[in-house]
Amino acid sequence: MPDLTLTQLAHTILEPIILSGDTVVDATVGNGHDTLFLAQNVEANGKVYGFDIQQIALDTCYQRLINHNVAKQVSLFHAGHETMPMFIPEDLQLEQIKAIMFNLGYLPGGDKQRRTQLSTTLNALSFSLQALSTEGVISILAYTGHSGGKEECDSIKNWLDTLDNSTIQTTIHKPENTIHSPPELIIIRKSQHQ
Ligand code: SAH
Repeated sequence: MPDLTLTQLAHTILEPIILSGDTVVDATVGNGHDTLFLAQNVEANGKVYGFDIQQIALDTCYQRLINHNVAKQVSLFHAGHETMPMFIPEDLQLEQIKAIMFNLGYLPGGDKQRRTQLSTTLNALSFSLQALSTEGVISILAYTGHSGGKEECDSIKNWLDTLDNSTIQTTIHKPENTIHSPPELIIIRKSQHQ
């Protein structure tokens, strides 16, 4: 699929998985493109929980949701994704969430210092894996070009190697023959134990 950006590819992979009424998470709201995609797919009877450490990101996202008339099914939190367990209802924390999206790095056009960090990203991923329903998907768009980005991406891949591969399948999509430090899309699927 050479014409798809990795963001579009993530949406293409998630679209058939996310059904009306599902509960999903946007772990890095940013400009809100993924939040909007999730809200449209879970529809009015579903639920999206969105997290970002910058109010400006949440404000931009909220406006986008209002413009598309899907704000009702979204709860946005001005909080780091590592604090997800404090905001997601307890009865949804074990294998109840159909999709969790991460788009790492910094807000485009924003403060580059306020980017995702390795240790908090790994904390959030570990909770996400527990909360993910069987047949659910975690998508991680990781950028390797900025300071700390490659280390963050490599640490995620090392963490993937520690997971139980009888129930967890991972795929990494990477554009070939492009720029020196291309972003990578990591897809994690959970399936029922055989
Ligand atoms: N790099 C992407 C956009 C990433 S936006 C691109 O180029 O399109 C990443 C967002 O994650 C930013 O809005 C940033 O504020 C947010 N963020 C950083 N640390 C976070 C954390 N611990 N929890 C939740 N969001 C975080």
